[in-house]
Amino acid sequence: MDANQLAGASHEETGMIEASCLCGGVEWSVEEPLGTMSHCHCARCRKAHGSAFATYVGARASGFALRAGVAIGRYASSAGGERCFCTRCAAVVPGEPDGKWIFVPAGNFHADPGVRPHSHIFAASKAPWHTIDDGLPCFDAWPPGTGGAVLEDFGVREPPGPHARGSCLCGAVGYQLTGASRRAVNCHCSRCRRARSAAFASILFAPVAYTRGQEKLASYTLPGAPRFSYAFCTVCGSALPRADQGDGLVGVPMGTLDDDPGLRPQAHIFVASKAPWYTIHDALPQFGEFPPPGAF
Ligand SMILES: [Zn+2]
Ligand SMILES: [Zn+2]
Ligand SMILES: [Zn+2]
Repeated sequence: MDANQLAGASHEETGMIEASCLCGGVEWSVEEPLGTMSHCHCARCRKAHGSAFATYVGARASGFALRAGVAIGRYASSAGGERCFCTRCAAVVPGEPDGKWIFVPAGNFHADPGVRPHSHIFAASKAPWHTIDDGLPCFDAWPPGTGGAVLEDFGVREPPGPHARGSCLCGAVGYQLTGASRRAVNCHCSRCRRARSAAFASILFAPVAYTRGQEKLASYTLPGAPRFSYAFCTVCGSALPRADQGDGLVGVPMGTLDDDPGLRPQAHIFVASKAPWYTIHDALPQFGEFPPPGAF
């Protein structure tokens, strides 16, 4: 098979599944067959991805290939644990193999990886605004017989205020909602999935002010989509609200919240672009693309 044939081949023929961050600066591929896929609700995954939970799949290290046109940021989130991200778009990207296996985020696949979620892990740390309702096995931490250390959650890092507070994974950047939020959605579009490296992005719309660490922020705006813009911490790569553009409502990546904002996601949007490996089980309204005004 020559290079042109290979480029046009589907993953069924090659056994290789491509993935990338949102901006395309970091690309990787894994070889089938893949290992276990699981949803992780730990506080570090929620902050690193800015999402309700992260979904990871095991792949054989020998079949993993990484091409990085952009620098990869690395943050030591625990002793021996490293979180990697694209320094241009802040998407989570794979770290180093762990022995024979490497664990890759599922939100970035370009094609259906074939495998389906097996269980929820670290369910004891789950976000208060997210409900697990798919009937899969739930483990408080690692599944029995696997895994390693169980780290403490972060708790709330800012002094109390009238509205919910949030912070990035490393804690350098903090923010506070400065008014009530009335809208929260789960967005399944391919941009959100590749930006958050997750099944979907949970976004709450509220006025926000930073409380610390603003000098650590950078921002990313998707070319040709000026409204698809977010800030991120340059130390740890957590996506953060873009609170530098006046006092209007901004999109808050809900995984970075430290308090329960009270509001729950009210709808699933862009479900026409949903990840093939993720099934929606709740009864919230679903919209193929952007919902019409006043729809929920
Ligand atoms: Zn990128
Ligand atoms: Zn985790
Ligand atoms: Zn940070």
